[in-house]
Amino acid sequence: MRKAGQIVAEIKSKTLEVIRDGVTTLEIDKIAREIIDKRGAKSNFLNYHGFPATICTSPNSMIVHGIPSDLRLVEGDIISIDCGAIWQGYHGDAAYTVGVGKISKEAAHLIEVTSRSLDAGIAVMQPGRHLHEIGRAVQNVAEANNMSVVREYVGHGIGTQMHESPNVPNYWPGTPGPKMRPGNVFAVEPMVNLGSHRTKVLPDGWSVVTQDGSLSAHFEDTIAITDNGPEIFTREK
Ligand code: MG
Ligand code: MG
Repeated sequence: MRKAGQIVAEIKSKTLEVIRDGVTTLEIDKIAREIIDKRGAKSNFLNYHGFPATICTSPNSMIVHGIPSDLRLVEGDIISIDCGAIWQGYHGDAAYTVGVGKISKEAAHLIEVTSRSLDAGIAVMQPGRHLHEIGRAVQNVAEANNMSVVREYVGHGIGTQMHESPNVPNYWPGTPGPKMRPGNVFAVEPMVNLGSHRTKVLPDGWSVVTQDGSLSAHFEDTIAITDNGPEIFTREK
């Protein structure tokens, strides 16, 4: 899983390099596919329930699951990239949001808060702490900044499957959940909206957008619980 995570980290950094005014989301997808091929890995997104691409590309008010296309990003957009890879049967999964060129103060604040909410969630991933403390930490950061946390889509266990139980909500669901133990691995992935937390799915059956059209950001890492606390697999070492 460490190796899978490092391939995903490389996809994050190489796709980030090409994001600029005029790039299409399909061109970003191609970069991800090339890295997976070059590293002898496999895609966990391609053909997942019929998903047609290697990464998800979700601009502006799109929250998650956007399909790469001929859409050209323009200066001022924000774009969320969700990416993953399988190495020898083990999965890595991560996401980030970035601005295209110069973006509004509100958009930059949303991205910064969402990234910080993930780090706050990771900080409580200690052996013996309860799983749902992650969501409480994420929600506290988002709501302290008058932003909202998506409810319908959540993080997950990860291992030999991309999505394993249990779910990892990005909000406090009312119960503490199971205790985290060394050896557990979770994909934690806050989706934070500038407006309401409500979502809807577009007619393509994949693209999830904010119901009110407000901007949304998404950060995700694959993280193991160790005796010494959290180990993040999907950031470059
Ligand atoms: Mg993901
Ligand atoms: Mg995930």
